[in-house]
Amino acid sequence: MALPAVRRSAAFGLLAAFGAVAAFATIAPREDAPPPPRALIVEPLALQAHEVPPPLQYVREEQFQRGDTLAGFLSRLGIDETAIGRLARAPALRALRPGVAVRADVLADGTPKSLSFLTGRDTLVRIVPEGERFRALEEQAPLETRVLMKASVIRSSLFAATDAVGIPDGIAMQLADVFGGDIDFYRDLRKGDRFTVVYEIYDLGGRPVRAGRLLAAEFVSQGRHLRAVHFGSSYYAPDGRNLRKAFLRAPLEFSRVSSGFGMRRHPIHSGWRAHKGIDYAAPIGARVRAVGDGVVDYAGIKSGYGNVVILRHNGQYSTLYAHLSRIAVRRGARVAQNDTIGLVGQTGWATGPHLHYEFRIAGQARNPLAVALPSGLPVPAQSLAAFRAQAEPLVARLDLLANANVALLD
Ligand SMILES: [Zn+2]
Repeated sequence: MALPAVRRSAAFGLLAAFGAVAAFATIAPREDAPPPPRALIVEPLALQAHEVPPPLQYVREEQFQRGDTLAGFLSRLGIDETAIGRLARAPALRALRPGVAVRADVLADGTPKSLSFLTGRDTLVRIVPEGERFRALEEQAPLETRVLMKASVIRSSLFAATDAVGIPDGIAMQLADVFGGDIDFYRDLRKGDRFTVVYEIYDLGGRPVRAGRLLAAEFVSQGRHLRAVHFGSSYYAPDGRNLRKAFLRAPLEFSRVSSGFGMRRHPIHSGWRAHKGIDYAAPIGARVRAVGDGVVDYAGIKSGYGNVVILRHNGQYSTLYAHLSRIAVRRGARVAQNDTIGLVGQTGWATGPHLHYEFRIAGQARNPLAVALPSGLPVPAQSLAAFRAQAEPLVARLDLLANANVALLD
């Protein structure tokens, strides 16, 4: 039994994604701006001077909120009571989820002309009146892909650094994931570390809807320069080495909840030498993950360790995770890298909530940060030419930003 990974969705919500409306025509949307705050947009349509003015029509946009009733929400969109009664029966509207922005074209008397919103599967739903009823039309949202490049410097946490330049959460998570075999994002980040990301953004009508794939990235940490290029279904160094390692550097998932926790608080023991393990200060309930594929060798209570899980991996490797508040696996179960095996706690001999982590080779505790770990397979020989063709322009972009960064720092 594995707990679901708690992941933040991309920072770009589905807010305000329905085509360029008049108010935005003069202000070019800033591609790097964070999603706008929830706002009510009321726009009289432009009237031609020599025509008989048509009934005044408004475009309103509102985000469906947690706790909203459908009737209350429709009324906030300026729709009149009678129409609300009829609209509330539309099945498409009853499936609305909190956070979804709905755009309504409404006449001045509250008669709705159309309601539209984007669903999770990039489907644009339009609800239009048809006689006394309403009909829902669905179409594939005409999303456009853009490639963005951004760089930032770490001052307090990775999320603070990505927030500062408007990099979506989804891209921050992918960044931590891609370099998770090389960098312990929980403990190793230092002030002054810097990174560059090249990633996709999906736009609808010129406005960002959500983040796509991370295409390339660079991480410069404590004198180490790491680079990654997306190819096929994996990430490789520009020379074709696979960045996927048999073991993750950190047993804690990098997340907004835990991000920066390790930086703010000193772990209870500073080094692995003191007690053959590494302590991660972390909030109770933070997700603990298997650092590599393996089999559960032990799951239960051991005096000092409290609730503990021990995993046996290929070869001579085993890992141990202690002081858990909750165990999510059973003895003998197979686990894959990144599976949840339990939650951070304070059981056993622990003076505060933390994860005690041990990495053993042939039964001997070793410092996991000092051990060279086996990697996945490199780019296959027959794909090298295709890989180079894809990697070259991406690496050129990383070079470009790396040089710009140096200029900024000078
Ligand atoms: Zn410990």
